[in-house]
Amino acid sequence: MSYRKWTRSIAFTSLLTSLSFFTTAYADKDEDLAVDDVEGSLSVMVLGSGGPVATTAGRASASYLIFIDGKPKILMDAGGGAYKSLAMSGVDIKDLDIVLLSHLHLDHTGDLPSIIKTMYFHNRIYNITGEGTFPPGRTAPFRVFGPATNGAKFPPVLGADPTTTQYPSTSEHVDGHYALNTGIDRYLNIFTRAISGGIFNYNTTDVSPNWKSDSVEVEIVKEKGLVISAIGVNHGPVPALAFRIEYKGRSIVYSGDTSSVGNNMINISEDADLLIYDTALGTDMPPNDSFNIFYALHTKPSRIGEVAYAAGVKKLLLSHITPQTENRIPQVKDLIRAQGFTGEIKTAKDLKVINLHD
Ligand SMILES: [Zn+2]
Repeated sequence: MSYRKWTRSIAFTSLLTSLSFFTTAYADKDEDLAVDDVEGSLSVMVLGSGGPVATTAGRASASYLIFIDGKPKILMDAGGGAYKSLAMSGVDIKDLDIVLLSHLHLDHTGDLPSIIKTMYFHNRIYNITGEGTFPPGRTAPFRVFGPATNGAKFPPVLGADPTTTQYPSTSEHVDGHYALNTGIDRYLNIFTRAISGGIFNYNTTDVSPNWKSDSVEVEIVKEKGLVISAIGVNHGPVPALAFRIEYKGRSIVYSGDTSSVGNNMINISEDADLLIYDTALGTDMPPNDSFNIFYALHTKPSRIGEVAYAAGVKKLLLSHITPQTENRIPQVKDLIRAQGFTGEIKTAKDLKVINLHD
């Protein structure tokens, strides 16, 4: 049963009188929920298909939820708006296990604190409404994987400390929020005990973002038939990773943000069932010089086609839709097709679900 339906079903019990603020907002609604579209062993739900520019298209920034045997286990990126999409999806994330961060740009990380906080509130609701004695709160750590620093420094003209790197490692980023003694959101270490009876617990793994020498992806998780791999990809000076998730004979690859220089995107995408690709660019050539940096950081449509064709990908999901691509999807698809790719091409939409075992 979906989280929202489940909360609705208990909304009228006197047990929850003191917690009615959790449930009354749902009581009159009966719309279709994205969570009810999840079927089979491996699925992806798009929480954010846009970013980083807020437009009336209404897309949240980059974020995807991966379901293993129907349960939301992995969050890939958490850009702004992902929290709202999560709320609308009806998904309960009390048991979310793994967070994969492709890189540390805000349109991929901005909503992570909000999602982590609601993860503990989802535990709270279950605890409060459990029959008999309350089940124990969450004590399992959530595991975060993301890029290590690549050592790139600021230009001297900025006057930064010469030892400061432009981007911290993922562990520095995560500790910067949550570490008990120094994190800016360190209150969560005591707050989560109070609200869920659980323990705030996380661990972080930094993965090499080296895209020049890492020609083969490295396994970062291998357990119970689930394999997650990562590879460094070029995103200009930004340490960045692409990820591959395999389960029960199906595979999802996520490019993160990348220019796709080199062969790493081809290597990690080999025979993938679904490739979620950075489609921030609407043309192969920048319309003028002011777009040059943007074009150096993201993948040109024809390069998406080259990678998908060379890797033998079965299905493409075009995502990270920007104002430049919003109205150019047909042209983008033509440029991809021109490289020989004949598989299915879908365009991402917030709350769209793709089941890999159709
Ligand atoms: Zn981005």
